[in-house]
Amino acid sequence: MSSLNEGLRLLPTGYLFSEVRSRVRRRVQEGADVIDLTVGDIAYPLPEYVVGAMSSAVLEMCDNVRFRGYPPDFGYYFLRQAIAKRYAPLGASISEDDVYVGCGGKSDAYALLDLFGEVNAYVVDPSYPVYADASTIKGLNVIRVEAGEENGFLPPPPPIDAPSVIWLCSPSNPTGEAYGSAQLKEWVDVARGSGSVILFDAAYSAFAEGDSAGTIYCVEGAEECAVELNSFSKSAGFTGVRCSWVVMPASLRFGGERLSPCYRRLLTTSFNGVPYFVQRGAEAALSTQGAEEYLRVIRIYKDNARRLKYFFEGRGVRCFGGISAPYVWVKCPLGLSSSATVEMLLDEVGVACTPGAGFGRCGEGYFRISGFCTEQAAREAIDRLGRIF
Ligand code: PLP
Repeated sequence: MSSLNEGLRLLPTGYLFSEVRSRVRRRVQEGADVIDLTVGDIAYPLPEYVVGAMSSAVLEMCDNVRFRGYPPDFGYYFLRQAIAKRYAPLGASISEDDVYVGCGGKSDAYALLDLFGEVNAYVVDPSYPVYADASTIKGLNVIRVEAGEENGFLPPPPPIDAPSVIWLCSPSNPTGEAYGSAQLKEWVDVARGSGSVILFDAAYSAFAEGDSAGTIYCVEGAEECAVELNSFSKSAGFTGVRCSWVVMPASLRFGGERLSPCYRRLLTTSFNGVPYFVQRGAEAALSTQGAEEYLRVIRIYKDNARRLKYFFEGRGVRCFGGISAPYVWVKCPLGLSSSATVEMLLDEVGVACTPGAGFGRCGEGYFRISGFCTEQAAREAIDRLGRIF
């Protein structure tokens, strides 16, 4: 009898972004001139102010008095406090005691699932593949919530009648669409009514504008039913540095039990913290100067996304997102499948995009194009795409 985790057998054979990355790399090795717009990675350096704070913190490590060993279990107080304070302008009150510093949104998402038994996990389709993959690996029963043009890729909650896990991501990867607080309130009501927990991934909150909610805690009652994940990757450019956080309000319960003591227990067994210099860099990113610097870069990514969106709209191609997110979600032309479209764009004009089907069944017939690139790359990509669309 096999002792392998059965959930692993149910996964697609390769993780979407690893597959996409190796396909692009192969083309480049063959000599193709590729503009890679598959990416959710940074194209500009980190803010100088943040790097300065990290450098000073590294130097403390060779000081007889100021060197540090293991960090505190859930993050240094200075960072937890800075993270908690960030919520006030977003209309939410968060205690630093409810903040847990981690080393990335992906690993936090994976770790959080250890809290739950074999319950249902509602996952919007299409969405960031980690939600469905990780839920499957951990033995939860994945139920897809279909998103499509009929609901603007922001589906309302389905009826839920048993305590479950609900994954939400807003602004959304991959569609770039974002829920407003009135729409999130519907999800909060359903979660509270069924004793469910929402795992709200706000990784792209720094891109949110207009009515888009920058946190689920701007909705009344969310502190009773929602955990929020966020990360410095997409805001301050920490994709290569690694720092994130989870907010888990002390009042949150699942199946009658308070979740935060269980999460603390789980973390103390599985995780030894984030390096001191990284936490100092994250703290600097949350300061006025740090935020000013990273928002200048985000402005470029947002302008890129907007330019791509307007390009497609100008050519009569249906598309979504691109305003509160770095991604534009584009309908494939001429009834082509998402992978055939992506192959065609790569072969004919050397623009690499991500096939929508990789984000779930409802992603078939669409592709994702990313504004995480230099301004020059975005302009060049639009010139090239103009030969096709
Ligand atoms: N959440 C979403 C929606 C993402 O798109 C990503 C990365 O692309 C992550 C989380 C993970 O980010 P990180 O692990 O770099 O914090």
